[in-house]
This record gives sequence, structure tokens and C-alpha cells, in this order.
Amino acid sequence: MLRNIRELIAQMTLEEKAGLCSGQDFWHTKAIPRLEIPSIMMTEGPHGVRKQREGSDHLGILESVPATCFPSGSALACSFDRSLLKEIGHAIGEECQGEHVAILLGPAVNSKRSPLCGRNFEYFSEDPYLTSELAVSHIEGVQSEGVGTSLKHFAVNNQEHRRMSTNAIVNERALREIYLACFEGAIKKAKPWTVMCAYNQVNGTFCAENDILLRDILREEWGFEGFVVSDWGAVNDRVTGLAAGLDLEMPGNGGLGDAKIIKAVQDGSLREEVLDLTVERILTMVLRAQNEQNSHAHYDRLSHHHLARKAARESIVLLKNDDHILPLSPTQRIAVIGSFAKYPRYQGGGSSHVVPTELSDVWSALQKTISPNMTLFFAPGYALENDDVDEQLLKEALDIARQVDVAIVFVGLPERYESEGYDREHMRLPDNHNQVIHAVCQVQQNVVVVLQNGSPVEMPWVDQVKGILEAYLSGQAGGEAIVDLVMGAYNPGAKLAETFPRKLEDNPSYLTFPGEGDRTEYTESIFVGYRYYDKKGMDPLFAFGHGLSYTTYDYRNLTVNRTRIRDDESLIVRVQVKNTGDRPGQEIVQLYVRDLICTVQRPEMELKAFEKVALGPGEEKTVTMMLHQRAFAFYDEKMADWRVESGEFDVLIGRSSRDIVLTSRIYVESTAVAGCA
Ligand code: BGC
Repeated sequence: MLRNIRELIAQMTLEEKAGLCSGQDFWHTKAIPRLEIPSIMMTEGPHGVRKQREGSDHLGILESVPATCFPSGSALACSFDRSLLKEIGHAIGEECQGEHVAILLGPAVNSKRSPLCGRNFEYFSEDPYLTSELAVSHIEGVQSEGVGTSLKHFAVNNQEHRRMSTNAIVNERALREIYLACFEGAIKKAKPWTVMCAYNQVNGTFCAENDILLRDILREEWGFEGFVVSDWGAVNDRVTGLAAGLDLEMPGNGGLGDAKIIKAVQDGSLREEVLDLTVERILTMVLRAQNEQNSHAHYDRLSHHHLARKAARESIVLLKNDDHILPLSPTQRIAVIGSFAKYPRYQGGGSSHVVPTELSDVWSALQKTISPNMTLFFAPGYALENDDVDEQLLKEALDIARQVDVAIVFVGLPERYESEGYDREHMRLPDNHNQVIHAVCQVQQNVVVVLQNGSPVEMPWVDQVKGILEAYLSGQAGGEAIVDLVMGAYNPGAKLAETFPRKLEDNPSYLTFPGEGDRTEYTESIFVGYRYYDKKGMDPLFAFGHGLSYTTYDYRNLTVNRTRIRDDESLIVRVQVKNTGDRPGQEIVQLYVRDLICTVQRPEMELKAFEKVALGPGEEKTVTMMLHQRAFAFYDEKMADWRVESGEFDVLIGRSSRDIVLTSRIYVESTAVAGCA
């Protein structure tokens, strides 16, 4: 194939080569009919296919064809479920094939630095290991259907404020250990067809022209073989970008960038071989897409909707469940309060906005499960369009809350609060959402709050309510999934993929987010998310990895196959987990590693492995996890490489980052060259 591509390139004119380096329009590459080079289509993801029928915009405004809307990234991450992510990837790949889409623009793997980032709903986690593991599965799923992915936004795109120009000033350790690590594992293991470079600058150079990121790290260090596409409109200096490794400019530029490339080759400022390599990378994927296109593809909408429902169930986190208030019993009188119960917030705003094939809401889903002894009431509680407390709506809510056994209040962040394109200004819920919870708690002791939001919120009522279910943006089947969990048809098992701080001021980026002018200093360095709260000994509202279940699990017998290893050897860790309750469930077993003594600052502990295990009542299984060199290493700026320092490490098994149940100590001997270790 490669030889053919080189032969093809040899037949191309300079104009054709330059032309191939930018889009034909918003979503397509250019065809070259005389050489039988097809045009291929790229389209939005990551949690569903957003293929526009006609017209083009990348802001989620114009209509797109109906597609299954799966839970968004921040929700899916809480499943900690590699196989689920893969299954969703397959389904999205099938839908792409059905719509003749060659490349899906996702997954989005930027780290969650601040809870305020408007696009956090699309991103997976504050932890780079969890992020990259889930990205691997998503990419493998989509690409196994013969559809490419575009891992985005490379790199350090952690805010929407001034996203086209902001300069992220970040030290090498934080870059490597947090921000690039989200991409690294995914690139190496899953080999995405493309990577999308971000709009912003990193340490003074725009990502679109950043040869350190695009050439030295992405290609030379990590071995990326696909093509790099610009985020839509991210190109500044086309020729410098091309030389740095930015292959395809999107969307089409009306020939402007192409002309610059032609001129640069003609005046000798760009070597034609560099252009040829770029063309080779683009053509390789274009022809691969052509080869793998399945013109008979179709998908079953209903089965994908069922998958979306399963995905939502696996992603919704039970944060609090005092007095076993959940699940509810079918004989209870229930007040359903909050407009979101009928008009859910189920996906994020912006380029990823999908037109769902169907949409479930909690209220209709509840009607379907209703039994003769169950009594349901509904009150909207607040207006959807604004934040004003409406006394009449409050009164209606209180009227029903007084008459029932339990009130479930549906609140969250309306789309105007969080979207691609801007960040939130604070971490609060709308006043009218908070107010309805406070008021209902005055007249009813049994209150459950269900949250629909893309990113953490402050919960001033946390001690007044008995139950909290974090549904995130749970996709088109979220309504049914919430009912599945609330009524106990399924047992919640998800755990938070990010910390919920008590208040915004607690967050490590608080003083420097979103920066001053175009400058954002990442002064918290590697101490992002739980790495910061742990180091400071601060109690978050809900910790990374926290999530409850309707059953209970016991952990015992943590064993390691060796108590002393060299860092080029692997460690096998085993632990027994037993379901000690009377319901089947799935437990997410988390493994953290702590470096006991080190010459550089290190986090208290870091997630280095996890497994999800399904257990019937009374059932016990052994969970096995492997640790390799990277699990013990830090990025040594002097050596410009990852390095383990010889010494003792703790292997910690937790139900969450703040609930460590078993610990084992081992010694790891460094193989770093003498004098450095
Ligand atoms: C977003 C990308 C997206 C692109 C095309 C941009 O505004 O940042 O994530 O893939 O639009 O829709």
C-alpha cells in the first residue's frame, strides 16, 4: 500500500499535493478524480455521530442526522468500564459506517484542571491513567468498524476562555505526568488514525505550529503514524505548521493556505519532501478509509438505544444514601420535583451536540414502571429558562412534597451554564434549583437529589438530603436509566472520575484559572485533582473514586507476587473481593501507588490500575492487576525521561481514593543509569 501511495504522490502536481493538505469544505477532504483519490468525511463525536445534513457549523447549531446520543465523556468515565467504552465505540463506528463517515472527531481526552471548564462534560477525568485507558477502549471500538478516530485536543486545552489564543504555561513534569499522559497511552496502545491539535499555545507556541509536541513527542517518541488535523480554524501560520507536523488544515480555507504552501515550496523555504511526507500521511488514511468503507452498513436503532441505557446505568454515581433511602419502594408515595425530570439535560452544548434517535425522560419512564400501589405527583419547581425563584412554582412543589413518603428533586446545570466556547464563572447551581431543594427539605425529611450536569457543583444542601444521585449528562436513555437505579431494578456501581471540591476556592487552579489576558500559569504543577487535595490533607465534598452501591463489598487477601522487583520487571497484584449483600452488583477495584521517599515532590498516591468486577450475592472473586515501570516512575526533567527512584512503594487497594482498605509494601530497584538513580 505504501509503495502505491508513494507512486501516487509522484504523479501529483505541487498544486494537488498542497490542495490535499486542507479540507474541501467543513467536513470533507479533497478528492483528486484523475488519480482516483476519494474525498472522505469527518464528523463530530465523541459520544455520538453528529453528521450535518446540509450547511456547516462547528458550534452545534445546524441540524444533523439522528444518531444515538450516548452519555457524555464525564459520565462514561465514572463507569471505569473498558469493555463498555469499547462496545459504545463499536456502536458509534457502525453508525459512522451507516452514514458514510470515515473519521469520528473524538475521543476528547483533555485533563480536568478546573471544574469550570465549559467543555469538561466532554472530557473523561482528572486522572491521566483512567483517561487514557478509556480512550484506548473507545478508539479500539470505533476503529474496529473500519472508521478512524481523532484524539483531541492535543494538548493542554483545559479551558474555553480565550481558547483560540491562550498560552498554557506548564512545567515539563506536569506536562508529561498529567496533560500529555492522557494522550500518550491512547496513542501508543490504540493507534488512532488521527490526532487533532488544539487551538491554544503551550509554553509560547501554538499547538498548530508546535514541533516539540507534533514532531518530537507525538511522532518520534510515541510513534504516532496517522495524520494530525487542525482543530477547526486553529491554523495560524500554515507553512510553519506543516513543517512542524500539522498535516491537514480544517475546515477548507478557500485555497489560502494551499497557496502559501505552494509558494514556500517554490521559493525553497519548505522542502518538497516535507510536503510529500504530509501528503503520504493523509493519503494513507484516506485510502484506508476507502478500503474499509462498508457500503451495506446499517445499524439497529433500538439496540443502540438499549446500549445507551446500559451505559447510563453504568455511569450514574450514587453519592449519598443515608438510611438506605434508595432504592425506592413501589408502594411509596413519591413527589417528583424539578423540570429536569420532564425536560432532561442529557448532553453538552457545542460541536458535540447530537440529534438523538429518541429521548427518554424520568417522568415518562416512571409512568411505565408504575405499580397499582405507587402514587406519583409532579411539580416543576423552577423555570427552565431563567434562574429566578418563582414563588408559585415553589408553592406547588411544597404542596406535593408535604403529602408524600419521599421527594426526588431533579436539578442541575442548564445548557446556558456550560458549553463549548465559554467557561462557567462559578460552581453553583442556579439559585432556583438550590432554593427548591432547601424549601422541600423544610417540609419533607426524605429527600433525594438527582443531578444532571456536566461537571461538579457546590451542594450547600448536602447535609439536608438523604440521597444524592449524580447522573451527569447521561445521554438519550438517561431518563430510563435513572428510573432503573432509583427503583432498584439495577444496582449503581459507578465511581467518580473527578473530585467534587466543597467550594470552588478549594480547587488547585482557583488562583490561576482562566489566567490573565492570554497567559494561564499552571502553578499547581502535577497537583491536579485528588493529587492536590490529598497532598493538602483537604476533605473534598466527594472524593475521586467515590461511589456507593445497594450492596456491600469486602476486600481481603491482598497479595503481590514479589516483594522486591527491578523496575523493568512487572508486579502482579491480587485481591479478593466479596459481595456481602443480597443484590448482584459491580465493584470498581482501584489500585493506587505511593512512593514513600523520593527526592522530588510526588503525589500522596496515584491511580495505576483498576478493574470492574461483577459479583452475585455472596460471590467472591480474585481480581488480578499488573504494574509496570511507569506505575512507579516520575518524569525526571534532568534526564528528560521517566525514572523510578529505588526504594519502598505502597500498593494501595481502595474502594475510593479516600477509602483505602488494604496495603502492601514492596521494594523497587531502579535500573536508571548509575549516577542518576
Ligand atoms: C471543536 C472540536 C471539533 C471541531 C469540529 C471545534 O470547535 O473544538 O472539538 O471537533 O470544532 O466540529
